[in-house]
Amino acid sequence: MDRQITIIGGGLAGCEAAWQAAHRGCWVTLYEMKPKRFSPAHISPDLAELVCSNSLRSNSLENAVGLLKEELRRLNSLILAVAEETRVPAGDALAVDRQAFAASITSRIEKAERIEIIREEVTEIPPDGIVIIASGPLTSPALAEPLQRLTGGESLYFYDAIAPIVDGDSLDLKVIFRASRYGEGNDYLNCPMNHEEYHLFVEELMKGEKVPYRDFEKPVHFEGCLPVEEMAERGPETLAHGPMKPVGLKDPRTGRTPYAVVQLRHEDSQGSAYNLVGFQTKLKWKEQERVFRLIPGLEKAQFLRFGSLHRNTFIHSPTLLDKTLQLRKDPRILFAGQITGVEGYVESTAMGLLAGINAARLAKGESWVIPLPTTAMGSLVHYITAPQVKEFQPMNVNFGLFPPMEGRFRGRDKKRATSERALKDLGDWVRTQMKDA
Ligand SMILES: Cc1cc2nc3c(=O)[nH]c(=O)nc-3n(C[C@H](O)[C@H](O)[C@H](O)COP(=O)(O)OP(=O)(O)OC[C@H]3O[C@@H](n4cnc5c(N)ncnc54)[C@H](O)[C@@H]3O)c2cc1C
Repeated sequence: MDRQITIIGGGLAGCEAAWQAAHRGCWVTLYEMKPKRFSPAHISPDLAELVCSNSLRSNSLENAVGLLKEELRRLNSLILAVAEETRVPAGDALAVDRQAFAASITSRIEKAERIEIIREEVTEIPPDGIVIIASGPLTSPALAEPLQRLTGGESLYFYDAIAPIVDGDSLDLKVIFRASRYGEGNDYLNCPMNHEEYHLFVEELMKGEKVPYRDFEKPVHFEGCLPVEEMAERGPETLAHGPMKPVGLKDPRTGRTPYAVVQLRHEDSQGSAYNLVGFQTKLKWKEQERVFRLIPGLEKAQFLRFGSLHRNTFIHSPTLLDKTLQLRKDPRILFAGQITGVEGYVESTAMGLLAGINAARLAKGESWVIPLPTTAMGSLVHYITAPQVKEFQPMNVNFGLFPPMEGRFRGRDKKRATSERALKDLGDWVRTQMKDA
């Protein structure tokens, strides 16, 4: 059939992609393996199931995920519309009643004119036609195998061990000092700790509430990737000899080597985002804020991405995907959602929306679109497809991914100005490139 699109996976990204493509006059076949087969984290037969938290995070335009949500609203996202309808009180955050949310999306997709849902597990990539792969972080093993072949051997990753990233503007540089070990450069920011500060930190770290391991995550335990709190449990001095070792570093305020040091590494060239080196963790997000703010210099740290350690199937997008989310070596295949290397509900939805739009444009013989890097959606697309200087790691949206603002902005003003620029550029982009949006 003309204008036919196949989508694999009825999660957030697959549903959003199906909705966008059908809205543009295409015929969509959406494959979802539930309820015949469930991933280890999914339990509901509904589409668009939220597997963990019921929060889509901040709604504020001073937060990059708040901006991304606003962009999605302006692009007529199904997921955002239903999230607003099913929201529950959660302060500044957009949280939803997860059952009502998934039920409403399922019902809308079932009733949509040009969408057919097939409840089957896909075990081969369809050899013809336009295909969107949106099978998520827990892609079934039977599909992971052909995907591995399609993406070339080792390009399919299975585990994330992610350290938190903090906003450079929120750091106390009166306490933190810049240095590399043994005076060889200035590449790191160092948070120095004395004996007391270190032991208090280790105690609180061990007390911190953790996200429990699920059975399928246990094999992730390999050295070098241990959560920081598990390293601490091996003995009170383990961290001081491991990721927090102070050797080769002198605090310029005292002229002495601190008892322990937390090192922060640049995430971007502008110094707007820093990674806590070696701090992959299973602590709950609230606990990460509480415990990591005990580190000298991080008392007011704003977290752009929280640490995590969980199973995650994602492709090596920098070498595999174009900015349209098409597979370079076979452009009739697009990827959407968390499998592209973004992280989180809203980010996955955004990659579904873009894949749905581009698949529809491809089906209709129109030229594809690429969001501008100054928008939240564009910043993510540019991040996942840019040649990486270091190992490619999944990423939440954050202001560190955006091109720098011209002019002297700092702190909240910078964030507000970045959001204003993004929404203006999104408007221009829609007017000039996406007349059907
Ligand atoms: C354990 C865990 C906890 C998480 N917690 C959070 C959190 O608290 N907050 C947050 O923002 N993000 C969280 N995430 C990330 C979040 O799950 C994703 O960002 C989001 O759900 C991804 O959307 P998606 O559409 O790409 O994948 P999914 O929502 O997982 O959807 C993929 C769909 O594809 C189906 N599928 C898989 N294989 C096949 C196949 N072969 N054939 C047919 N169908 C198939 C699945 O059944 C599923 O319905 C978590 C992830 C995991 C694994």
